[in-house]
Amino acid sequence: MFDTHSHLNFKAFSDDYKQVIEECIGKNLYLINVGADLDTSQKAIEISDPENKIFASVGVHPLHVREGIDYQKLSLIAEDDSVVAVGEAGLDSYSKAKKNLQKDVFLNHLEIADKLNLPLILHCRKMHEDLLEILPEGRGVIHCFTGTLSQAKRYIEKGYLIGFNGIIFKLNLKNVIEGVPVDKILLETDCPFLHPAGGDRRNDPMEVETISKKVAEIKNMESDELLQITKKSACKLFEIN
Ligand SMILES: [Zn+2]
Repeated sequence: MFDTHSHLNFKAFSDDYKQVIEECIGKNLYLINVGADLDTSQKAIEISDPENKIFASVGVHPLHVREGIDYQKLSLIAEDDSVVAVGEAGLDSYSKAKKNLQKDVFLNHLEIADKLNLPLILHCRKMHEDLLEILPEGRGVIHCFTGTLSQAKRYIEKGYLIGFNGIIFKLNLKNVIEGVPVDKILLETDCPFLHPAGGDRRNDPMEVETISKKVAEIKNMESDELLQITKKSACKLFEIN
């Protein structure tokens, strides 16, 4: 299994992230802890364990966008061996930051990813047309995808993969899941958020199995096969052996 979008670097796990990581390693579950600002990006690196397939991604989430982000520092920490991607970065209609500033911050992430030859972990909430307009062809994943099938197809044409998580239990994404080729899908939990069972329950990386079952059911295939295919796609994208 591979949880391509996890936040064991967040406060919700500050008491027991070590145990959760141990559990993941015990289950041979590969994991990327994704940063949402400089602090949580650094934390993701700090708790990484690349030998045991616990990786990091560094970036500034659109909800944390502000003036004066230290891109030099971001670029510097992105050079760590544990870092397999830049993000999460992107556009969010719920952000207090103006659209132009969000775009500017996003373009700075593109530059860093380009310079270090890293794929992108993209976050986009209800701004897919804006993102598609400024996103060049490249490598990466649109995590927690909730757009339309035609938008998903346009991302795929640009070279990107589509990430699904527990939000598929809340929103009806059946036709999107049906329409996205299985080799363009990544699975993730976005834990501690978006537990498949809903509510305030803390989500965890093991739930990638629940998400796989639901996606597999829609794709009319075995969950184990889907876990295998999506793991292979993730290892290829993030250049993990
Ligand atoms: Zn996230």
